[in-house]
Amino acid sequence: MPSEAASTGENMATMRRAAFACIALGTGLAALAAEPLPVMILDGESAGPYHDWPRVTATLERILDEVGLFDVTVITAPPAGGEFAPNFSAYRTIVLNYDAPDERWPETLRSSLERYVEGGGGLVAVHAADNAFPSWRAYNEMLGVGGWRGRDERAGPHWYYRDDALVADTTAGAAGSHGRRVPFAVVVRDASHPIMRGLPSVFMHGDDELYARLRGPGLRMTVLATAYSDPANAGSGRDEPQLMVLEYGRGRVFHTTFGHDVRALSSVDFVVTLQRGVEWAATGDVTQTVPTSFPTAAAPRYREDLAAIGR
Ligand code: ZN
Repeated sequence: MPSEAASTGENMATMRRAAFACIALGTGLAALAAEPLPVMILDGESAGPYHDWPRVTATLERILDEVGLFDVTVITAPPAGGEFAPNFSAYRTIVLNYDAPDERWPETLRSSLERYVEGGGGLVAVHAADNAFPSWRAYNEMLGVGGWRGRDERAGPHWYYRDDALVADTTAGAAGSHGRRVPFAVVVRDASHPIMRGLPSVFMHGDDELYARLRGPGLRMTVLATAYSDPANAGSGRDEPQLMVLEYGRGRVFHTTFGHDVRALSSVDFVVTLQRGVEWAATGDVTQTVPTSFPTAAAPRYREDLAAIGR
């Protein structure tokens, strides 16, 4: 459940790891059994009721559990900023399903996350996590780009693709927009990255908000995939970054703009890129194969088994 206090969640994680070890020893396969990668899903808040973050977390947890590589713990931050000191260093990747305002985290908590990523920890930002903390400089450097919560040109340039190259447009303007939720085509921009290896060069993502006009420092950022933001649906007319990786110190960051709701999360391309992105953030490589159900450029594919989660 997503409402565990930090200490309870971490105790349970320790017990689960111990259970994994017992199973491995009991079957005599200790030498062959890979230690599961401890992964934290961090949630607790969003800017408005339009993000049903408990259901999103339940879906993310299911998606990561099915891989068999991860030992997932949900940590829920107190919404009013009460006592909260998660032990980030106990995890190989932190998955952010979390959108909080600047004042929520004190300096000690911010520097704790910064030191974790700088030291080689993995970070994965899902959808509205890139709305959080508009004035926390290091956070925006980790994610590369963000939107809303008052962001404008002071947050950094608007990044997009033009003529197969990444452009940093410093024209003034608000950061963050999206149109109606519709399926849209995703264009791979870096087919050699471990997260993207073996995916079709163009694939359809299911009904979701197509984030556009995101702004940020964009340092050490590689855009893995873009989508065309259609002016006929309140779009920018640009090929907007949707999947990105960044380096921050020795840490690896995977940033996906996808995942407004469970419908969007059930898109097979979201499931697969999240599973691969979490492994890459944790280890620097991807060992998972691409399922034959992965969508093509013709039509999106949905995981109907995920659509019912949390109802
Ligand atoms: Zn949304």
